[in-house]
Amino acid sequence: FLPPSLKKRREYNVWLIFTKVTKISTLSFKFRDLIHNLLNVTSVPLKFNIIVDKISQRIAENQISDVVLYMNKSVVYSFYDIEESAKKIQDIVQVMTPYFSSKPGTYYSDALFYISLGLYRIAPQSQDIAVLLDCDLYFKKDVALLFKEFDKFKSTALFGLAPELTPVYRHILHMYKAKHNTTFGDYYHQQNISNATHPRGFQGYNSGVVLIRLKAQRNSTEFLKVINNSSVLEMTSKYKFRGHLGDQDFYTLLGYEYPHLIQTLNCGFNRQLCTWWRDHGYSDIFDHYAKCDHDTVVLHGNCNTRIPK
Ligand code: UDP
Ligand code: MN
Repeated sequence: FLPPSLKKRREYNVWLIFTKVTKISTLSFKFRDLIHNLLNVTSVPLKFNIIVDKISQRIAENQISDVVLYMNKSVVYSFYDIEESAKKIQDIVQVMTPYFSSKPGTYYSDALFYISLGLYRIAPQSQDIAVLLDCDLYFKKDVALLFKEFDKFKSTALFGLAPELTPVYRHILHMYKAKHNTTFGDYYHQQNISNATHPRGFQGYNSGVVLIRLKAQRNSTEFLKVINNSSVLEMTSKYKFRGHLGDQDFYTLLGYEYPHLIQTLNCGFNRQLCTWWRDHGYSDIFDHYAKCDHDTVVLHGNCNTRIPK
């Protein structure tokens, strides 16, 4: 028994990636609006951890001081250098880019898309859990609700993710689906009773909102196995999977092969608004994928979609 003063107080670490910003741009306004929005909705003290390059850091500092002045609230934050961070996850990036990057480029621009997988090496050891957010989000409700989801995690889960709300993984799996009877790539509301782990069809995951159990991940030997080259080769060959969405392609494959590692959050925690796939061959079924019956906590203006506020 520990008196309350000795219990480890829960920290609310929010991680953001803010890089390759060279001038005041839409990304810098999204960043500013999100900080402002999070401070407005939160019922708990947040700590911001921001991954930046040198120029982006200057812009971030300016945007944060605008928020501080405007709201007359203090903001707790620290910066992490993208190049140092990229070095710490080099091995992961090297394994993943051939399968999940559209056009592998310089090592740090590639690393950007895989930060969530190696954040446990970048974050201070004192952080047990973290929430990694895209900048193009808008919280309709308290961000503490997101942290509460950690309490619902099954014991084996390392990551918490909400579903992808487009048919992108139906598209990627079309060769595999032609030959195999599977619910993978099907939409959630399609009733399927054949698959025990995803009995309702499985749309894959979106990584705009990622809940990470950093401590469990640091102690996991299984995680090191699933991110090594032979495991990724095995999974991508089995499903003839060639993606272009970085970490979320890998999470989707984990959802097929190692579902115990992922806790599925409901779609209200990452309500994506991009409709690109509706106009690119999937107008007949797009709405089945985008349908979300849960209360919206987070809106995600992905593919530069304007968020109705
Ligand atoms: N990002 C960044 N610099 C860039 C592009 C993206 O730091 O030049 C970060 C930013 O945090 C952004 C995230 O990467 O929210 C993912 O990109 P985006 O949200 O635009 O992708 P989408 O959700 O539309 O797929
Ligand atoms: Mn996004």
